[in-house]
Amino acid sequence: MHETGIVEEIFDTLQQEYPDRYKLIVKIQLEAGLLSNIQPILIQNAFEAYVIDHPQFADVELEVKVLSIHAFCTNCKEAFEVLFHRFVCHCGTPSSQIIQGEELRISQVIFKKDAI
Ligand SMILES: [Zn+2]
Repeated sequence: MHETGIVEEIFDTLQQEYPDRYKLIVKIQLEAGLLSNIQPILIQNAFEAYVIDHPQFADVELEVKVLSIHAFCTNCKEAFEVLFHRFVCHCGTPSSQIIQGEELRISQVIFKKDAI
């Protein structure tokens, strides 16, 4: 299951980034674009399983925000939301310039004591 690998990667990243503070993490927020092939429910399941194996993270909560797909229209010079995978602007111009929707990123990390 590829979500398990993603969850492991997230925790590895956080431990590298916050070597002194990762034990104080209480909440992780992820942003997953609709094109990123991330299923929030599968990520949550993988997360629960990881936490059971790593009790030091038992208090950590995970929130997954799903981001809609946005593409850029070269005619209107602005972004539009892609609905039903229809990459065509309201002006009729097709676009393949995706500016949001493919990412998977840690958008927020909350620590028990956010004052250190
Ligand atoms: Zn347009």
